[in-house]
Amino acid sequence: MALAFEQGPIRPPSEAHSLLIRLTRNCPWNKCAFCNAYKGTTFSVRTVEDIKRDIDTIAEMSRLITRAQQENNVSELQARLHELDQYQLYHVANWLSYGGKTVFLQDANSLLMKTAALLEILGYLKEKLPTVERITSYARSTTLLRKSVDELAQLKQAGISRVHVGLESGCDAVLKFMDKGITAQQHIDAGKKVKAAGISLSEYVLLGLGGRKWAREHPFDTARVISAINPDYIRLRTLAVVENTPLFTKMQQGEWEEQSDTNTVEEEKIFLENLNGIDSRLLSDHSMNLLGEINGRLPHNKPAMLRIVDSFLALPEEEKNNYILGRRWGLYNRLGDMQDPSRHERVKNTLRSLQSQGTLDATIANLKYQMVRV
Ligand code: SF4
Repeated sequence: MALAFEQGPIRPPSEAHSLLIRLTRNCPWNKCAFCNAYKGTTFSVRTVEDIKRDIDTIAEMSRLITRAQQENNVSELQARLHELDQYQLYHVANWLSYGGKTVFLQDANSLLMKTAALLEILGYLKEKLPTVERITSYARSTTLLRKSVDELAQLKQAGISRVHVGLESGCDAVLKFMDKGITAQQHIDAGKKVKAAGISLSEYVLLGLGGRKWAREHPFDTARVISAINPDYIRLRTLAVVENTPLFTKMQQGEWEEQSDTNTVEEEKIFLENLNGIDSRLLSDHSMNLLGEINGRLPHNKPAMLRIVDSFLALPEEEKNNYILGRRWGLYNRLGDMQDPSRHERVKNTLRSLQSQGTLDATIANLKYQMVRV
């Protein structure tokens, strides 16, 4: 069997060039109504010994790849390289090609491990992989609340540079309905702790999560919570309701109604308008987001970001549909792409055809669903 190390299925898009090291498996909460990332799996904490063995394997792969790159005659290395898992060899080579500087600790909530164990792993990781400069992890706010600021500061000192937190909503009614297992105030307290420890904080906001019922409260309360935390990064995501989730069932039973794409942009406007007193960097760095060009530093770029939102909302209905279809189809990344006559014409013809068949909404929903699955 090829020599390999263990990896989980998920990482944030911003960690595309990071080395993925698995500390825990799956999600210890696994109840959020909208999430199917770890459905049907069981959470477990890996042993420090197993994780160290993985780090040794990665260090060995790095050493062999570096030697193969430096030496002209690699034939003597080839037998050894073939003993390694080829996909992971590629992963490590890709990581090294970006300088071997960043590591993401998988899976959904690895800071749940005991602080002493985390410190031991981080120390070993830095010793065996000395090029590493940035180590990040997902963490649930409930987990962060259980650690003291002093413990978080020790983790920062040992190498944890950033935590990614799925805030999703700052509206208590939405958090409760979605079974997120946390309140808005707990999100605020956890976020403040991370910042007090000097760890960079990335908070994820899920547009559309309030559905039609909480269309105003969700963005308004979320802006209030984010403004109280002042995270380093705010990362926008857009909800797509997927099958095999409790939310899909609730929707089918009429307990929750999905927002339209246009209404989600209206939510985005309320959210942006109500972000106050913070200097976070806001990014719309996911292909599910309708307006991919929303990106900037608060408060300076807030007017420019709102202008983009208003430009979309001011479009005539037919042009809104043209943009939504083109974006979901992958032909547009930003509103300005509609100015390209050939792309616009192509989308326009398809739009008319789908409208005449009465299948526009179903096609857009299908395209959106496909994006969640990739
Ligand atoms: S905590 Fe995160 S990974 Fe776990 S169920 Fe909720 S959204 Fe999914």
